[in-house]
Amino acid sequence: MPLIPFNRPHTVGTEFGYISEAIAAMHISGDGRFTQRCSGFLEELLDVPRALLTTSCTHALEMSALLLDIQPGDEVVLPSFTFVSTANAFVLRGAKPVFADIRPDTLNMDERGLERLLSPRTKAIVPVHYAGIGCEMDAILKTAKKAGVPVVEDNAHGFLGKYRGKYLGTFGALSALSFHETKNFSCGEGGALLVNDPRYLERAEIIREKGTDRSKFFRGEVDKYTWQDLGSSYLPSDILAAFLFAQFEAKETIHAERRRVWEYYHSRLRDWAGRNGVSLPFVPEHCTPSYFMYYLVLPSPESRKALIRHLAEREIQGVFHYLPLHLSPMGRKFGGKEGNCPVTEGISERLLRLPFFIDLNESDLGRIVEGIVEFSP
Ligand SMILES: *Cc1c(COP(=O)(O)O)cnc(C)c1O
Repeated sequence: MPLIPFNRPHTVGTEFGYISEAIAAMHISGDGRFTQRCSGFLEELLDVPRALLTTSCTHALEMSALLLDIQPGDEVVLPSFTFVSTANAFVLRGAKPVFADIRPDTLNMDERGLERLLSPRTKAIVPVHYAGIGCEMDAILKTAKKAGVPVVEDNAHGFLGKYRGKYLGTFGALSALSFHETKNFSCGEGGALLVNDPRYLERAEIIREKGTDRSKFFRGEVDKYTWQDLGSSYLPSDILAAFLFAQFEAKETIHAERRRVWEYYHSRLRDWAGRNGVSLPFVPEHCTPSYFMYYLVLPSPESRKALIRHLAEREIQGVFHYLPLHLSPMGRKFGGKEGNCPVTEGISERLLRLPFFIDLNESDLGRIVEGIVEFSP
């Protein structure tokens, strides 16, 4: 039996044509025609003031830290159950990460414990829409507003997901998207910074262009460009933007296909999960998922290990996900200890991600589900 991998990148077929076009236009550095088309696509779809393509979501988060003027000693509140970049982007500026626990149902930052984590040094709150299911943004924004702290959404998972009918990534002052190979829409390595609060527009362009006002120069707004501020090189090549634009144009198909995979698992595993004390992703009524991933939470770490082995024997690759950041070697340097985020600690060692990519056909999905339901934890 052929191996069903955990992930396989998807191409829509029009990528090569667009890449050739980018090359023929002789503009293969950043901010060429395809970059503009990608930005325009995101701005129109999400109805945001500015969408700047970046070299990664990590870099969009680093830009956020620069935009918010994060200084040594500042604190940034973020979930412990996330990818390292959510923390590192701010730690690079000298910030101390303050780790929030997650809700046991959605596995998102628990908004109920948020206020308690804020201090006069808090400079940002960074929610992550885990698995592309929205955080409780009403409550998070209310707490943030009361404290006068900006929200930066790490929306690496949630592109096209919605919260109360509004796209994820449009709630924070800033938000970061990922177009890494493992994400729903991809160009291999890439990302975007959504600038939702217009007060950050001017500096965002400068920071992205090595600290210069080159973007203004290209638009003819200044007659020369020079060093204005801190900055780095966060522009992807137009070749990557060409690849990404092909995927954007296939938005409906990509979204529908991911939904198909998600719903296959969700409908076929419900009974088995109910009988065996396994939890499946929970989608609050007011949320629409981005269909980024599908996971199971097993009753114990041992049963997760046993299920991974059981699936591996059937040539099916199930994997685990984030290790709690507060218990990582780096997290411990910031005071992380066992018991700080009990829900995160409990879930992290019991969660199993199932293979999830568009080219999974009915027979692959059937094989995976059969393999799972013949296992009892
Ligand atoms: C993938 C991911 C990132 C990093 O994305 P890159 O584009 O690879 O930099 C950041 N945060 C979360 C939650 C992610 O899943």
